[in-house]
Amino acid sequence: MNAYAAHGPSSPIVPFSIDRRDPGAHEVKIDILYCGVCHSDIHTARNEWGNTTFPVVPGHEIVGRVISTGSDVSRYAIGDMVGIGCFVDSCRTCMSCVAGEEQYCDGGVVWTYNSKEKVTLLPTYGGYSTSIVADEQYVLRVSEKLHLPGVAPLLCAGITTYSPLRHWNVGKGTRVGIMGLGGLGHVAVKIAAALGAEVTVISTSAAKEADALKLGAHDFLLSSDDSAMLKRKSHFDFILNTISAQHDYNRFLSLLRLNGTMTLVGIPPEAVPVRANMLTGRRRNLSGSLIGGIKETQEMLDFCEVHDIVSDTEVIPMSYINEAYERILRSDVRYRFVIDMATLKKD
Ligand code: NAP
Ligand code: ZN
Ligand code: ZN
Repeated sequence: MNAYAAHGPSSPIVPFSIDRRDPGAHEVKIDILYCGVCHSDIHTARNEWGNTTFPVVPGHEIVGRVISTGSDVSRYAIGDMVGIGCFVDSCRTCMSCVAGEEQYCDGGVVWTYNSKEKVTLLPTYGGYSTSIVADEQYVLRVSEKLHLPGVAPLLCAGITTYSPLRHWNVGKGTRVGIMGLGGLGHVAVKIAAALGAEVTVISTSAAKEADALKLGAHDFLLSSDDSAMLKRKSHFDFILNTISAQHDYNRFLSLLRLNGTMTLVGIPPEAVPVRANMLTGRRRNLSGSLIGGIKETQEMLDFCEVHDIVSDTEVIPMSYINEAYERILRSDVRYRFVIDMATLKKD
Protein backbone atom coordinates (compact mmCIF):
# COMPACT_ATOMS: atom_id res chain seq x y z
CA MET A 1 0.00 0.00 0.00
CA ASN A 2 0.96 3.61 -0.40
CA ALA A 3 3.33 5.23 2.07
CA TYR A 4 6.04 7.89 2.20
CA ALA A 5 9.57 7.08 3.35
CA ALA A 6 13.05 8.50 3.80
CA HIS A 7 15.74 6.30 2.22
CA GLY A 8 18.70 7.99 3.90
CA PRO A 9 19.57 10.84 6.25
CA SER A 10 19.74 13.41 3.49
CA SER A 11 17.02 12.01 1.24
CA PRO A 12 13.66 13.76 0.97
CA ILE A 13 10.50 11.91 2.06
CA VAL A 14 9.26 10.17 -1.09
CA PRO A 15 6.47 7.78 -2.18
CA PHE A 16 7.12 4.20 -1.10
CA SER A 17 5.21 0.94 -1.14
CA ILE A 18 4.79 -1.25 1.97
CA ASP A 19 2.94 -4.45 2.90
CA ARG A 20 0.41 -4.53 5.74
CA ARG A 21 -0.80 -7.99 6.75
CA ASP A 22 -4.38 -8.93 7.63
CA PRO A 23 -4.93 -8.61 11.38
CA GLY A 24 -3.89 -11.54 13.60
CA ALA A 25 -6.23 -12.86 16.32
CA HIS A 26 -5.69 -9.91 18.71
CA GLU A 27 -5.07 -7.23 16.10
CA VAL A 28 -7.08 -4.56 14.33
CA LYS A 29 -6.47 -2.97 10.96
CA ILE A 30 -6.96 0.78 10.86
CA ASP A 31 -7.68 2.99 7.86
CA ILE A 32 -5.55 6.06 8.65
CA LEU A 33 -7.44 9.34 8.28
CA TYR A 34 -4.93 11.81 9.80
CA CYS A 35 -1.33 11.70 10.94
CA GLY A 36 0.44 14.52 12.79
CA VAL A 37 4.00 15.56 11.96
CA CYS A 38 6.16 15.44 15.09
CA HIS A 39 9.66 16.91 15.33
CA SER A 40 10.79 13.37 16.29
CA ASP A 41 9.84 12.33 12.72
CA ILE A 42 12.47 14.80 11.47
CA HIS A 43 15.14 13.74 14.00
CA THR A 44 14.57 10.12 12.89
CA ALA A 45 14.25 10.68 9.13
CA ARG A 46 17.56 12.58 9.24
CA ASN A 47 19.18 10.06 11.61
CA GLU A 48 19.98 12.86 14.07
CA TRP A 49 19.79 10.43 17.01
CA GLY A 50 22.04 7.94 15.18
CA ASN A 51 19.56 5.03 15.46
CA THR A 52 17.61 5.06 12.19
CA THR A 53 17.23 2.01 9.96
CA PHE A 54 16.32 3.03 6.41
CA PRO A 55 13.96 3.11 4.68
CA VAL A 56 11.90 4.69 7.45
CA VAL A 57 8.17 5.53 7.24
CA PRO A 58 7.65 8.09 10.04
CA GLY A 59 4.38 9.10 11.73
CA HIS A 60 3.19 8.32 15.27
CA GLU A 61 0.22 10.63 15.74
CA ILE A 62 -2.35 8.45 14.04
CA VAL A 63 -6.14 8.70 13.97
CA GLY A 64 -8.28 6.40 11.89
CA ARG A 65 -11.16 3.95 11.67
CA VAL A 66 -11.08 0.21 12.37
CA ILE A 67 -11.69 -1.63 9.09
CA SER A 68 -11.10 -5.23 10.17
CA THR A 69 -10.58 -7.15 13.39
CA GLY A 70 -8.93 -10.44 14.35
CA SER A 71 -10.99 -13.33 15.72
CA ASP A 72 -10.20 -12.64 19.41
CA VAL A 73 -10.52 -8.84 19.42
CA SER A 74 -12.93 -7.68 22.13
CA ARG A 75 -12.27 -3.96 22.67
CA TYR A 76 -12.94 -2.62 19.18
CA ALA A 77 -15.35 -3.24 16.35
CA ILE A 78 -15.33 -2.33 12.67
CA GLY A 79 -16.17 1.38 12.31
CA ASP A 80 -14.70 2.51 15.66
CA MET A 81 -12.61 5.71 15.67
CA VAL A 82 -9.22 4.96 17.23
CA GLY A 83 -5.69 6.25 17.61
CA ILE A 84 -2.14 4.92 17.70
CA GLY A 85 0.73 6.79 19.31
CA CYS A 86 4.46 6.18 19.57
CA PHE A 87 4.53 2.43 20.26
CA VAL A 88 2.61 -0.65 19.14
CA ASP A 89 3.94 -3.38 21.45
CA SER A 90 6.11 -4.08 24.51
CA CYS A 91 7.13 -7.13 26.59
CA ARG A 92 3.96 -6.95 28.74
CA THR A 93 5.64 -8.63 31.74
CA CYS A 94 8.33 -6.26 33.11
CA MET A 95 7.63 -3.92 36.04
CA SER A 96 7.03 -0.94 33.74
CA CYS A 97 4.60 -2.83 31.51
CA VAL A 98 2.70 -4.24 34.50
CA ALA A 99 2.51 -0.69 35.92
CA GLY A 100 1.04 0.55 32.62
CA GLU A 101 4.17 2.53 31.73
CA GLU A 102 5.00 0.49 28.64
CA GLN A 103 7.12 3.33 27.21
CA TYR A 104 9.79 2.43 29.81
CA CYS A 105 9.62 -1.33 29.05
CA ASP A 106 12.78 -3.22 30.08
CA GLY A 107 12.17 -5.91 27.47
CA GLY A 108 12.15 -3.41 24.61
CA VAL A 109 9.36 -1.23 23.32
CA VAL A 110 8.27 -1.79 19.73
CA TRP A 111 8.04 1.73 18.36
CA THR A 112 5.43 2.59 15.76
CA TYR A 113 8.25 3.16 13.27
CA ASN A 114 12.00 2.53 13.10
CA SER A 115 11.65 -0.61 15.22
CA LYS A 116 11.26 -4.37 14.77
CA GLU A 117 8.14 -6.42 15.46
CA LYS A 118 8.65 -8.94 18.28
CA VAL A 119 7.83 -12.23 16.54
CA THR A 120 8.36 -11.55 12.83
CA LEU A 121 11.33 -9.16 13.34
CA LEU A 122 9.93 -7.21 10.40
CA PRO A 123 10.47 -3.43 10.44
CA THR A 124 7.61 -1.30 11.76
CA TYR A 125 6.32 1.43 9.48
CA GLY A 126 4.47 4.48 10.80
CA GLY A 127 1.55 6.67 9.93
CA TYR A 128 2.71 8.26 6.69
CA SER A 129 0.72 5.42 5.09
CA THR A 130 -2.86 4.51 4.33
CA SER A 131 -3.36 1.82 6.99
CA ILE A 132 -1.74 0.16 10.00
CA VAL A 133 -2.19 -3.12 11.90
CA ALA A 134 -1.71 -3.28 15.67
CA ASP A 135 -2.59 -5.30 18.76
CA GLU A 136 -5.81 -3.95 20.26
CA GLN A 137 -4.07 -3.41 23.64
CA TYR A 138 -1.94 -0.67 22.09
CA VAL A 139 -4.84 1.11 20.39
CA LEU A 140 -6.66 4.10 21.93
CA ARG A 141 -10.32 5.05 21.81
CA VAL A 142 -10.93 8.44 20.17
CA SER A 143 -14.04 10.58 20.56
CA GLU A 144 -15.70 11.56 17.30
CA LYS A 145 -16.99 14.69 19.06
CA LEU A 146 -13.58 16.35 18.77
CA HIS A 147 -12.10 17.87 15.60
CA LEU A 148 -10.30 14.77 14.27
CA PRO A 149 -7.24 16.39 12.64
CA GLY A 150 -6.69 18.18 15.97
CA VAL A 151 -6.91 14.91 17.91
CA ALA A 152 -4.07 13.22 15.99
CA PRO A 153 -1.27 15.28 17.65
CA LEU A 154 -2.63 14.37 21.08
CA LEU A 155 -1.32 10.82 20.50
CA CYS A 156 2.25 12.11 20.93
CA ALA A 157 2.34 15.85 21.73
CA GLY A 158 -0.66 15.48 24.05
CA ILE A 159 0.56 12.56 26.14
CA THR A 160 4.20 13.72 26.17
CA THR A 161 3.15 16.93 27.90
CA TYR A 162 0.22 15.59 29.97
CA SER A 163 2.31 12.85 31.61
CA PRO A 164 5.01 15.05 33.21
CA LEU A 165 2.49 17.76 34.13
CA ARG A 166 0.52 15.12 36.06
CA HIS A 167 3.62 13.36 37.44
CA TRP A 168 4.86 16.64 38.97
CA ASN A 169 1.40 17.49 40.33
CA VAL A 170 0.90 20.65 38.32
CA GLY A 171 -2.41 22.26 39.24
CA LYS A 172 -4.00 25.23 40.89
CA GLY A 173 -1.37 27.55 42.32
CA THR A 174 1.55 26.05 40.34
CA ARG A 175 3.64 28.53 38.40
CA VAL A 176 4.47 26.71 35.17
CA GLY A 177 6.81 27.73 32.37
CA ILE A 178 6.46 26.09 28.96
CA MET A 179 9.69 26.42 26.97
CA GLY A 180 9.18 26.40 23.19
CA LEU A 181 5.80 27.14 21.62
CA GLY A 182 5.76 24.43 18.96
CA GLY A 183 3.75 21.24 18.55
CA LEU A 184 4.38 19.98 22.09
CA GLY A 185 4.48 23.42 23.69
CA HIS A 186 1.12 24.68 22.47
CA VAL A 187 -0.69 21.54 23.67
CA ALA A 188 1.19 21.80 26.98
CA VAL A 189 -0.16 25.35 27.44
CA LYS A 190 -3.74 24.17 26.92
CA ILE A 191 -3.38 21.20 29.28
CA ALA A 192 -1.54 23.13 32.02
CA ALA A 193 -4.15 25.90 31.88
CA ALA A 194 -6.95 23.30 32.07
CA LEU A 195 -5.23 21.82 35.16
CA GLY A 196 -5.57 25.26 36.76
CA ALA A 197 -1.90 26.29 36.70
CA GLU A 198 -0.54 29.80 36.15
CA VAL A 199 1.13 29.38 32.76
CA THR A 200 3.95 31.36 31.16
CA VAL A 201 5.21 30.67 27.64
CA ILE A 202 9.00 31.02 27.37
CA SER A 203 9.81 31.49 23.70
CA THR A 204 12.42 32.71 21.23
CA SER A 205 9.66 34.03 18.94
CA ALA A 206 8.28 37.47 19.86
CA ALA A 207 5.63 37.02 17.16
CA LYS A 208 4.02 34.17 19.15
CA GLU A 209 3.05 36.33 22.17
CA ALA A 210 -0.56 36.97 21.12
CA ASP A 211 -1.06 33.27 20.29
CA ALA A 212 0.39 32.23 23.65
CA LEU A 213 -2.24 34.27 25.48
CA LYS A 214 -5.02 33.01 23.20
CA LEU A 215 -3.95 29.41 23.89
CA GLY A 216 -4.50 30.02 27.60
CA ALA A 217 -1.15 31.30 28.90
CA HIS A 218 -1.24 34.09 31.46
CA ASP A 219 2.16 35.50 30.62
CA PHE A 220 4.80 35.50 27.88
CA LEU A 221 8.56 35.60 28.39
CA LEU A 222 10.82 36.36 25.43
CA SER A 223 13.94 34.34 26.24
CA SER A 224 16.28 36.70 24.41
CA ASP A 225 15.19 39.63 26.63
CA ASP A 226 17.79 39.70 29.44
CA SER A 227 15.90 42.08 31.72
CA ALA A 228 12.62 40.14 31.41
CA MET A 229 14.52 36.91 32.15
CA LEU A 230 16.11 38.48 35.22
CA LYS A 231 12.70 39.55 36.52
CA ARG A 232 11.50 35.90 36.43
CA LYS A 233 14.60 34.57 38.25
CA SER A 234 13.60 31.92 40.86
CA HIS A 235 9.97 32.33 39.82
CA PHE A 236 8.68 28.99 38.50
CA ASP A 237 7.71 25.81 40.37
CA PHE A 238 7.88 23.73 37.23
CA ILE A 239 9.27 24.20 33.72
CA LEU A 240 8.50 21.87 30.82
CA ASN A 241 11.31 22.13 28.28
CA THR A 242 10.11 21.16 24.77
CA ILE A 243 13.00 22.72 22.83
CA SER A 244 14.19 20.59 19.93
CA ALA A 245 17.62 22.17 19.33
CA GLN A 246 20.71 22.92 21.38
CA HIS A 247 20.34 25.81 23.84
CA ASP A 248 21.75 27.04 27.15
CA TYR A 249 19.96 25.04 29.84
CA ASN A 250 21.63 27.03 32.63
CA ARG A 251 19.96 30.24 31.51
CA PHE A 252 16.54 28.64 31.98
CA LEU A 253 17.31 26.66 35.15
CA SER A 254 17.89 30.00 36.88
CA LEU A 255 14.15 30.68 36.44
CA LEU A 256 13.24 27.86 38.89
CA ARG A 257 12.52 28.66 42.52
CA LEU A 258 13.60 26.60 45.56
CA ASN A 259 12.84 22.89 44.95
CA GLY A 260 11.61 23.71 41.44
CA THR A 261 11.77 21.13 38.65
CA MET A 262 12.63 21.34 34.98
CA THR A 263 11.51 18.32 32.94
CA LEU A 264 13.09 17.78 29.55
CA VAL A 265 10.87 16.37 26.84
CA GLY A 266 12.65 18.01 23.90
CA ILE A 267 15.49 15.78 22.70
CA PRO A 268 18.14 17.78 20.83
CA PRO A 269 20.77 15.51 19.28
CA GLU A 270 23.58 17.27 21.16
CA ALA A 271 24.65 16.60 24.76
CA VAL A 272 23.23 18.82 27.51
CA PRO A 273 25.82 20.94 29.36
CA VAL A 274 24.57 21.85 32.83
CA ARG A 275 26.43 23.76 35.56
CA ALA A 276 26.07 21.98 38.90
CA ASN A 277 25.52 25.20 40.85
CA MET A 278 22.41 25.88 38.77
CA LEU A 279 20.89 22.88 40.59
CA THR A 280 22.56 23.11 44.00
CA GLY A 281 21.84 26.80 44.55
CA ARG A 282 18.07 26.34 44.94
CA ARG A 283 17.93 22.53 45.40
CA ARG A 284 16.49 22.36 41.88
CA ASN A 285 15.60 19.16 40.02
CA LEU A 286 16.39 18.36 36.41
CA SER A 287 14.41 15.41 35.03
CA GLY A 288 13.21 13.88 31.79
CA SER A 289 10.05 12.22 30.55
CA LEU A 290 9.12 10.01 27.62
CA ILE A 291 5.58 10.09 26.19
CA GLY A 292 3.22 8.07 28.47
CA GLY A 293 1.70 4.60 28.87
CA ILE A 294 -1.47 3.34 27.18
CA LYS A 295 -3.63 3.81 30.29
CA GLU A 296 -2.45 7.38 30.80
CA THR A 297 -2.82 8.14 27.08
CA GLN A 298 -6.48 7.10 27.28
CA GLU A 299 -6.86 9.23 30.42
CA MET A 300 -5.33 12.20 28.55
CA LEU A 301 -7.68 11.71 25.56
CA ASP A 302 -10.66 11.61 27.92
CA PHE A 303 -9.36 14.72 29.76
CA CYS A 304 -9.04 16.54 26.42
CA GLU A 305 -12.57 15.56 25.48
CA VAL A 306 -13.93 16.97 28.75
CA HIS A 307 -11.90 20.18 28.42
CA ASP A 308 -12.43 20.49 24.66
CA ILE A 309 -8.69 20.44 23.96
CA VAL A 310 -7.30 19.65 20.51
CA SER A 311 -4.18 20.73 18.70
CA ASP A 312 -4.19 23.83 16.49
CA THR A 313 -3.41 22.38 13.10
CA GLU A 314 -2.48 23.16 9.54
CA VAL A 315 -3.83 20.26 7.51
CA ILE A 316 -1.59 19.38 4.57
CA PRO A 317 -1.50 16.90 1.69
CA MET A 318 1.07 14.09 1.97
CA SER A 319 3.09 15.56 -0.89
CA TYR A 320 3.76 18.73 1.18
CA ILE A 321 5.79 16.83 3.78
CA ASN A 322 9.26 18.06 2.80
CA GLU A 323 8.18 21.73 2.87
CA ALA A 324 6.48 21.03 6.20
CA TYR A 325 9.77 19.73 7.65
CA GLU A 326 11.60 22.88 6.53
CA ARG A 327 8.92 25.09 8.05
CA ILE A 328 9.00 23.18 11.36
CA LEU A 329 12.77 23.75 11.48
CA ARG A 330 12.15 27.50 11.06
CA SER A 331 9.52 27.40 13.89
CA ASP A 332 7.03 28.41 11.21
CA VAL A 333 3.99 26.30 12.08
CA ARG A 334 0.87 27.29 14.02
CA TYR A 335 1.18 24.75 15.66
CA ARG A 336 1.13 21.25 14.18
CA PHE A 337 1.09 20.00 10.61
CA VAL A 338 -1.38 17.15 10.18
CA ILE A 339 -1.44 15.07 7.02
CA ASP A 340 -4.84 14.38 5.48
CA MET A 341 -4.28 10.78 4.46
CA ALA A 342 -6.99 10.91 1.80
CA THR A 343 -4.41 12.81 -0.24
CA LEU A 344 -2.12 9.78 -0.17
CA LYS A 345 -4.78 7.38 -1.40
CA LYS A 346 -5.25 9.58 -4.45
CA ASP A 347 -1.52 9.59 -5.32
P1 NAP B 1 8.49 21.84 17.24
O1 NAP B 1 7.07 21.90 16.84
O2 NAP B 1 9.55 22.09 16.23
O3 NAP B 1 8.70 22.85 18.50
C1 NAP B 1 9.93 23.10 19.07
C2 NAP B 1 9.98 24.53 19.54
O4 NAP B 1 11.25 24.75 20.19
C3 NAP B 1 9.93 25.57 18.44
O5 NAP B 1 8.64 25.89 18.04
C4 NAP B 1 10.63 26.77 19.08
O6 NAP B 1 9.70 27.46 19.92
C5 NAP B 1 11.65 26.10 20.00
N1 NAP B 1 12.98 26.09 19.39
C6 NAP B 1 13.34 25.54 18.21
N2 NAP B 1 14.66 25.74 17.97
C7 NAP B 1 15.13 26.42 19.05
C8 NAP B 1 16.42 26.90 19.41
N3 NAP B 1 17.48 26.73 18.61
N4 NAP B 1 16.54 27.55 20.60
C9 NAP B 1 15.48 27.74 21.40
N5 NAP B 1 14.24 27.31 21.09
C10 NAP B 1 14.07 26.65 19.94
O7 NAP B 1 8.84 20.39 17.85
P2 NAP B 1 7.91 19.39 18.69
O8 NAP B 1 7.27 18.43 17.75
O9 NAP B 1 7.11 20.15 19.66
O10 NAP B 1 9.04 18.54 19.46
C11 NAP B 1 9.92 19.18 20.35
C12 NAP B 1 10.99 18.23 20.82
O11 NAP B 1 10.41 17.23 21.64
C13 NAP B 1 11.75 17.48 19.72
O12 NAP B 1 13.11 17.36 20.09
C14 NAP B 1 11.08 16.11 19.73
O13 NAP B 1 11.90 15.09 19.23
C15 NAP B 1 10.86 15.94 21.20
N6 NAP B 1 9.82 14.97 21.57
C16 NAP B 1 10.03 14.26 22.70
C17 NAP B 1 9.07 13.39 23.16
C18 NAP B 1 9.28 12.66 24.45
O14 NAP B 1 8.58 11.69 24.70
N7 NAP B 1 10.17 13.10 25.30
C19 NAP B 1 7.90 13.21 22.43
C20 NAP B 1 7.69 13.98 21.29
C21 NAP B 1 8.66 14.86 20.86
P3 NAP B 1 9.68 29.08 20.00
O15 NAP B 1 9.46 29.56 18.60
O16 NAP B 1 8.53 29.35 20.91
O17 NAP B 1 10.99 29.49 20.60
ZN1 ZN C 1 6.27 12.53 18.57
ZN1 ZN D 1 7.95 -4.49 29.41
